[in-house]
Amino acid sequence: MADSPQPPVRDRLGRPLGDLRISVTDRCNFRCTYCMPRAVFGRGYRFLPRAELLDFDEIVEVAAACVELGVHTIRLTGGEPLLRPGLETLVARLGALHGLADLALTTNGALLDRERAQALRAAGLRRVTVSLDALDDPTFAAMNDAGCPVSRVLDAIAACHAAGLVPVKVNMVVRRGVNEAAILPMAEHFRNTGDVLRFIEYMDVGTTNGWRREDVVGAQEILERVGARWPVEPVAPTRPGEVARRYRYLDGAGEIGVIASITQPFCTGCTRARLTPEGRLFTCLFASEGLDVRGLLRGGADRSGLRRALAQRWAQRSDRYSQLREELHQATGRVEMFRMGG
Ligand code: SAM
Ligand code: SF4
Ligand code: SF4
Repeated sequence: MADSPQPPVRDRLGRPLGDLRISVTDRCNFRCTYCMPRAVFGRGYRFLPRAELLDFDEIVEVAAACVELGVHTIRLTGGEPLLRPGLETLVARLGALHGLADLALTTNGALLDRERAQALRAAGLRRVTVSLDALDDPTFAAMNDAGCPVSRVLDAIAACHAAGLVPVKVNMVVRRGVNEAAILPMAEHFRNTGDVLRFIEYMDVGTTNGWRREDVVGAQEILERVGARWPVEPVAPTRPGEVARRYRYLDGAGEIGVIASITQPFCTGCTRARLTPEGRLFTCLFASEGLDVRGLLRGGADRSGLRRALAQRWAQRSDRYSQLREELHQATGRVEMFRMGG
């Protein structure tokens, strides 16, 4: 490591590189209205051809370089990561990286049956986050726009339990007037299960979801609604860089979280880098420019060259979009969430 900074590398605001989110595909079997609206991502939409995706050797090489620079947690995401053929092989290879403490997956759950969950666990996956926006089919359909029944996602959560991938985190994006009535039923359903429901403020990622500030249900309001029924108290973060604020039910029924990118930005603790399926490395969810890692790899960069380029990129970073949202929201060119991986 003599030729690059000692880990963890730090950015211009003193934030260490700690987490890497790897989006393994831009394809998805859902068309969530807040992420891939069908009007834009319909039949005619051209997803990335296979040759443009990083292959597993390339992904592992980037991940290894990032771990050498301080990354302790890797999360696989997408698009829908379970659509990437052979994902278990990638999990096994990443899981073998020396120095990696945690390997997780975010999925919509539609393809996560018991066999798949067992295989992922056997390959070395440690944790799963399953996205679910409602408990009744009509509301869920209005969010995912792909007709996936709620029962299929609940089965996926059960499959995680059967495979020992617990506790499961459950992500619920809350949209005003669409699924806000599902807040209490979701909270009730996941109380006493050991799983952790996280309410996510609807974000202005990408440029296609028609985001409006008035469609956001703020964390404070969500907490008041849940707390009025089942009182909660805050829990201290378990590690730096944790994006969800955690709360525990006073009656001992477990924990919930809120991810309040809009009303309570958490840029000061942001330690995440994001790798897109085609190999661009972004240092902010809302960035429009990323480092062309695929170009470096296919141009013959070795591990130390890659590490230097990544370290340099992180060291230059001063992103804090959510803190500056009001000034920056008009900026165009942001990359879509399914590419960036959330
Ligand atoms: N397809 C997988 C899934 O849905 O879990 C993984 C990728 S998805 C982009 C990752 C997370 O981003 C999901 O929990 C999803 O709900 C969340 N997400 C997508 N668009 C969002 C938006 N506009 N605001 C807030 N969260 C969003
Ligand atoms: Fe697909 Fe996940 Fe985006 Fe929904 S949020 S469209 S499941 S990538
Ligand atoms: Fe991190 Fe950018 Fe989100 Fe701020 S806006 S928390 S810097 S990804």
